[in-house]
Amino acid sequence: MQPVATLLSPLDPAPVQVLREGGRSPFLLIADHAGRAVPSALGRLGLPQSELDRHIGWDIGIAGTTARLSERLDACAILQAYSRLVIDCNRPLDSPGSIVERSDGTPVPGNLDLDAHQRAQRIAEIFEPYHARIAAELDRRASAGRPVVLVAMHSFTPSMAGNDRPWHAGVLYQRDARFAHALLEALRDEGDLVVGDNEPYRVSDATDYAIPVHAERRGLPHVELEIRQDLIADEAGQQAWAQRLARLFTALQDRFARS
Ligand SMILES: [Zn+2]
Repeated sequence: MQPVATLLSPLDPAPVQVLREGGRSPFLLIADHAGRAVPSALGRLGLPQSELDRHIGWDIGIAGTTARLSERLDACAILQAYSRLVIDCNRPLDSPGSIVERSDGTPVPGNLDLDAHQRAQRIAEIFEPYHARIAAELDRRASAGRPVVLVAMHSFTPSMAGNDRPWHAGVLYQRDARFAHALLEALRDEGDLVVGDNEPYRVSDATDYAIPVHAERRGLPHVELEIRQDLIADEAGQQAWAQRLARLFTALQDRFARS
């Protein structure tokens, strides 16, 4: 890749936010869609702030839920600060979903007719540093012989294309369902939840990046967890879900967190 001029200015947030870097939990939390920042040079991608605030701009509620879960577990969490509309950090770079020209009915003017240089900037300054940080954390744990369970935290909109979604949460996976199915069972045993098994989405090499690359290739136990956005839109909901997940994760820890 050719060297690129700077997209991010000193006034823009860093792309990667790391919480509890020295956390002792085997769980490593990542949140590809935690943020809704847009580099100031991109002029909000030509969108009103109200569009960036919608589910198309970020995973509503997941940053707060992840931060609270990180605290309860003493688990390191790695979060992406930029909106998925700038570049989607959970899409392969050759996927049509990487930099979208339209999302859930909304055209994204700032993503039309991008040239190779513009794409390369977003990759080099937003996508790559985020995934490099995750890889570095996993390398560090591997060298230290520390066990790890990778949890990709996401949230989904309650209604998509006119269809209401019944699930409170969903566990997603592709080649390795070990941890996902154990968590599914634990969530269903709670008794008050409708939990999707590879719903409302499923992990695939074509539509996902983080789990196939960071977890499956390394053979790490993992799950991609989706929580419905209306349940974690406010602080009380985020606390309640963090508390519940911390309890369930801790109960599963000894079965999966082996070095
Ligand atoms: Zn997401």
